[in-house]
Amino acid sequence: MLLPDWPFLHATLDWLSQGLWGLTWWQIVLYTLVTTHITIASVTIFLHRHQAHRAMDLHPIPSHFFRFWLWLSTAMVTKEWVAVHRKHHAKCETMDDPHSPQAHGLKTVFWKGAELYRAEADRQETLAKFGHGTPADWLERHVYSRYPILGVSLMLVLNVAWPIVPEQVARWLPGRNFTPLGTDGMGRSDTREALRRFFEVDAEHIVLAALSALADEGTVQSTLPGQARQRYGLQDEGEPWLR
Ligand SMILES: [Zn+2]
Repeated sequence: MLLPDWPFLHATLDWLSQGLWGLTWWQIVLYTLVTTHITIASVTIFLHRHQAHRAMDLHPIPSHFFRFWLWLSTAMVTKEWVAVHRKHHAKCETMDDPHSPQAHGLKTVFWKGAELYRAEADRQETLAKFGHGTPADWLERHVYSRYPILGVSLMLVLNVAWPIVPEQVARWLPGRNFTPLGTDGMGRSDTREALRRFFEVDAEHIVLAALSALADEGTVQSTLPGQARQRYGLQDEGEPWLR
């Protein structure tokens, strides 16, 4: 063994190599390609054609989907992007063009594109002069424009820490019998079947969890979970994370 046998080290390495979803490499590549493509489509269809140039109309549903997706994946505020882009067209290749390689140098635009964008998007006169006609509804004012970072933070939670969420939600549902099922894959990702058995989310354990919840409520006899455990050959080994 080259590495010390620390559970925390194993868990970290496993998380780094497999993530919490335990996706295979091609699933991760596919996920990245699909989500990136949706983002590219949102920029080119919604921000550029529909919003900045009014070159096409969009039905409110896809229009809002694109706006929501951009908030979720880029923290881009529609009015800012539109204003910066319209100014780029209006002042093309002059010193007032927010991202002209001609005026500012290719190197600056290439390496500092994000900073150039941010500086221009923060200028109130740019937004006032070039940002007209962009969404200003309740959601835009109270959520998307007000908390642009919240969307990407939410995306991070969805991508990285999804299985933890049901447990966090459960405590806010008093009086409900809430039995979250899920795995966080720490150090047990040899096969999917073994992982499901270990974390007690295979078919047998789901039956057992349901019966235990019903027995706690008094809906079924309290001996029923024990019978199921015996029938499926499940040992009571305590909580998975303590084994
Ligand atoms: Zn354009």
